Amino acid sequence: MHRIVIVGGGQAASALIAKLVAEGCDAKITLVCAEPRLPYQRPPLSKAYLLGEMAEDRLYFRPAAWYDEHGVDVRLGTRATGIDTAARTLRLDGGDTLPYDDLVLTTGAHPRSLPASIGGTLGNVFAVRDLDDADAMEPAFRDGARALIIGGGYIGLEAAAVAAKRGVSVTLVEAADRILQRVAAPETSDFFRALHLSHGVDIREGVGLTALTGDDVVTGATLSDGTTLDIDFAIVGVGIAPATALAEGAGLTIDNGIATDAHGRTSDPQIWAAGDCASTPLGDGRVRIESVGNAIDQAEIVAHNLLGRDVTYTPKPWFWSDQYDVKLQIAGLNTGYDAIHVRQVADARSHWYYRGDQLIAIDSLSDTRGYMVGKRLIEMGKSPAPDVVTHPDTNLKALLKA
Ligand SMILES: Cc1cc2nc3c(=O)[nH]c(=O)nc-3n(C[C@H](O)[C@H](O)[C@H](O)COP(=O)(O)OP(=O)(O)OC[C@H]3O[C@@H](n4cnc5c(N)ncnc54)[C@H](O)[C@@H]3O)c2cc1C
Repeated sequence: MHRIVIVGGGQAASALIAKLVAEGCDAKITLVCAEPRLPYQRPPLSKAYLLGEMAEDRLYFRPAAWYDEHGVDVRLGTRATGIDTAARTLRLDGGDTLPYDDLVLTTGAHPRSLPASIGGTLGNVFAVRDLDDADAMEPAFRDGARALIIGGGYIGLEAAAVAAKRGVSVTLVEAADRILQRVAAPETSDFFRALHLSHGVDIREGVGLTALTGDDVVTGATLSDGTTLDIDFAIVGVGIAPATALAEGAGLTIDNGIATDAHGRTSDPQIWAAGDCASTPLGDGRVRIESVGNAIDQAEIVAHNLLGRDVTYTPKPWFWSDQYDVKLQIAGLNTGYDAIHVRQVADARSHWYYRGDQLIAIDSLSDTRGYMVGKRLIEMGKSPAPDVVTHPDTNLKALLKA
């Protein structure tokens, strides 16, 4: 029987297994997952779960019985430590080896941490990547506590929103000139800055962290502008690095993640990769997208190709973030835009990114209708004139048929 071994156990692994099962795959599927729990959703960890509005059992994609029913051999709490590409075996941390015919790497990413020399290993300095991280920080979110959040990307801003809602006094530092600088236009940064300020979050842009201080547990911070703060805990949201060690050890090509072709195949024809750990061709270069939508789409492409089909991946990025009562939804890739056009209808707002006269991306700030239509237009390669999409009287849905 054909043997498919999957290393990971997150969003991509879950989507891959679900697709293989749905398509009637008759291979023997084994999942090797370092975490001691079944695949679960990460987005709520910095949103509803951390707020206490979502119970742990709702995080899991499927119950244990589902994997049993479909004959999936799930090895939880097991880390893959090496790949012998010649023998086609995977080495596990207990010393066992698993033979494979096809191996899929969905190892995700590691949160970047701060070095011990600046206090990164002190107690109450938290990362936000997995359920253990969320559970570790949750008790610190008490009314009146003082938090420093390092990093003004989505993770840092979502953690700030949860902390503020739970009565924590929050300072957020962002070393770049503005929050969300890496991922969004100034208009979107401006919107979120104002939103957080209105909830009492102290946002300091162009200010880095010099050091976290304290004996065993963090009690203070020194910022690059010389300011010192008394704090009870810190959250580090300074980005992630793709988990490539296993692939590197096997001699696979690494290029901003595990390099795959458009089929999801790595430089070894029997090894595939998907999700946060993988980079995929786009235009003349490569892209590595850190999102649920990408993890699902890439994993499903790999599933089809494992079933002998010839399917290629064209990234159609989409993403969301919840902060307070605002839902941010993003579609497309905004790199290389040269103009932003704003649609405002009552409280709903969206930012439409154009390169020349081509619509390439949209950021929606609770403008669900704008988002749905903008996303479809981008996927269809249609670019209505900016004054049309932004006019409040435009029947947006009609643009899809135009
Ligand atoms: C707090 C948080 C909030 C997020 N919010 C959003 C959001 O709102 N919208 C959105 O689109 N995206 C969001 N994301 C991103 C999204 O969750 C990720 O893009 C997605 O989980 C990537 O899936 P993955 O399967 O590639 O990796 P992961 O889900 O990270 O899974 C990787 C798994 O591989 C395991 N693993 C790694 N190495 C090994 C090994 N050697 N052996 C065995 N197992 C191993 C890891 O333990 C982990 O369980 C968020 C992420 C986080 C952390």
